[in-house]
Amino acid sequence: ELTVEGIRDSIGAIPDYPKPGIIFRDITPLLQNPAAFELSINTLKQRYEQTGITQIAAIEARGFIFGSALAYAMGCGVTLLRKPGKLPGKVVSQSYDLEYGSDELQMHENALTANDRVLIVDDLLATGGTVVAAHKLIKATGAEVEEAAFVVSLPELGGEDKLQQAGVACYTLCQF
Ligand code: 5GP
Repeated sequence: ELTVEGIRDSIGAIPDYPKPGIIFRDITPLLQNPAAFELSINTLKQRYEQTGITQIAAIEARGFIFGSALAYAMGCGVTLLRKPGKLPGKVVSQSYDLEYGSDELQMHENALTANDRVLIVDDLLATGGTVVAAHKLIKATGAEVEEAAFVVSLPELGGEDKLQQAGVACYTLCQF
């Protein structure tokens, strides 16, 4: 029977994607494995179901998959954090640095209030730039951030340290 430790084995590794020298951790085999997907969601559900979370802030695009399944399981809402130009309403934006250049996350400006307790969800934590930007957008609304949860983390890239410095608790199902 599959254990939480076994979830790691359902993650694929694609060498030299998107650039030479990078090993891309591929979550598509996990999604195609019903037992691994179900255990991933149920493990997160057990961790957070008693915490009073009202909204899961899911980060485009793979964070939408885990975030929406978890929100359905927990009976809370999903708040979308999207790449620029995708959300139809009035948005708030936060840019963040990438290795080369920068990127931006947007959220509907009225999506969250000080009454919300939010769990941030993404598939993978690398440098932490994306999730720190998400945290800034959410905190600016007055909402509380419970934690940031990921299926995979790559600790050598410093994201866990960066989140600690930003005062954001973090939980991951597996690490590479
Ligand atoms: P960070 O901002 O922490 O450096 O990068 C994390 C973001 O980039 C996440 O939204 C994640 O989906 C994506 N990402 C970066 N590297 C990988 C990878 O190796 N595998 C996957 N699945 N996503 C990655």
